Amino acid sequence: MDADIIVIGASPAGLMAARNACEKGSSVLLLEKKEEIGSPPHPANSFFKGMLDKCGEAADPSYVVHYLKGMQIISPSGRIVEVETPGYAIDKSRFDRFYAEKVMKTGVDIRNGIEARNIHREGEKFSVSTSAGVFKSKLVIISDGINSKMASLLGLKTMKHPEDIAWGMELEVRAPALGKPKMFEYYIGNHAPGWKTTYSPRGGDNAAIGVYVRRCGRDATPYLNAWVERFKKLKGLKEFEVVKRLSGGDPIVTLPNEYITDGIMVVGGAAGQSGIGYAMRAGQICGDVAANGIRKGDVSKNVLSEYRKTWEKEFKAEHYLGRIGLETLRKMTDREIDEMAAVFEREDLSFVHGSSIEQAMQVFAFILKKKPSAILKYRALLRNK
Ligand SMILES: Cc1cc2nc3c(=O)[nH]c(=O)nc-3n(C[C@H](O)[C@H](O)[C@H](O)COP(=O)(O)OP(=O)(O)OC[C@H]3O[C@@H](n4cnc5c(N)ncnc54)[C@H](O)[C@@H]3O)c2cc1C
Repeated sequence: MDADIIVIGASPAGLMAARNACEKGSSVLLLEKKEEIGSPPHPANSFFKGMLDKCGEAADPSYVVHYLKGMQIISPSGRIVEVETPGYAIDKSRFDRFYAEKVMKTGVDIRNGIEARNIHREGEKFSVSTSAGVFKSKLVIISDGINSKMASLLGLKTMKHPEDIAWGMELEVRAPALGKPKMFEYYIGNHAPGWKTTYSPRGGDNAAIGVYVRRCGRDATPYLNAWVERFKKLKGLKEFEVVKRLSGGDPIVTLPNEYITDGIMVVGGAAGQSGIGYAMRAGQICGDVAANGIRKGDVSKNVLSEYRKTWEKEFKAEHYLGRIGLETLRKMTDREIDEMAAVFEREDLSFVHGSSIEQAMQVFAFILKKKPSAILKYRALLRNK
């Protein structure tokens, strides 16, 4: 046996799963196909403090490039809904390296430049075939990202709605003072079907602009090109320098499905768990439950299902409400989105707090009080689109 647990992929979720399992007494081998962790980075450039709070982590200045006060959600006709919530623009390569070093210090054996190719069950143990030979363990955690090959090789349908993956493209750009503002800007409407376009200031002259669409194919280039032209007009820019171009998929509303079986756990983007903070928390839960199974000498689906139960307790309501919200948005006309934004425009929304269900109820009550007829706009969800 090479380790109690093999983790495939140094995603934020995989790193956390490895760390927690190791801290709870399991020996852990983490295989990462990139020669160097964080290079090239996965295209994620920011997160909110609230997300990191969920996994008990604090943002580290070594990877934060710009501190932000919150976000503006901007409707098609330019109505602005402002939400104050601290956020961070990050250097994702430095972020990945920061966590890889932290995880290594707990005793996880991280091996770079090794690609997992297949997983075979042999009685009570697993053989993971890789580009560097075969490794054996009692349990395997798959965290190989949104395009997970390992989970599909095992026949696991890890997402309920894989057709709803958001395909995104981002440009890191430079122009004088473009990175100075303190608010993220998210533009919603049918120019980005299913989700949004973004402007994320990154300090000084640096910013990222992006587009995320659903059910429009994997290539978001036409939407990005249109967004670049509109963005230049909005910000009065003639040109900007494009420093980097990144693309990928985000399973924001796909909902996790089959992500546990005997001796196997799937976590992070591979299991439809989107966003760095959420993936990290899922990784922690997964690592704790995996170590518990190893300690008991029982890694059956039944024992490992504690991972699903804990995850559902913490996140199911939020994920389901998020899906309903983004599906409604995808089906709304620009006019409906404007009318919905008008209800919240210039309002102080700091009263919204508590669990996601409580927050949804508070927002519902707010709409009923301010403009009851606006509730009707949400019937767009029932539209066949
Ligand atoms: C364009 C874009 C922008 C985004 N922006 C943000 C953002 O700003 N904030 C945010 O919170 N989230 C953002 N997300 C979502 C976020 O990136 C992911 O939710 C998060 O990184 C979790 O990553 P992951 O689990 O999908 O794994 P990944 O980060 O993709 O990691 C998977 C790892 O597994 C490795 N791997 C894959 N296959 C193998 C194999 N066979 N053997 C060994 N190793 C393997 C890969 O090399 C990689 O290191 C964005 C997503 C996209 C597409």
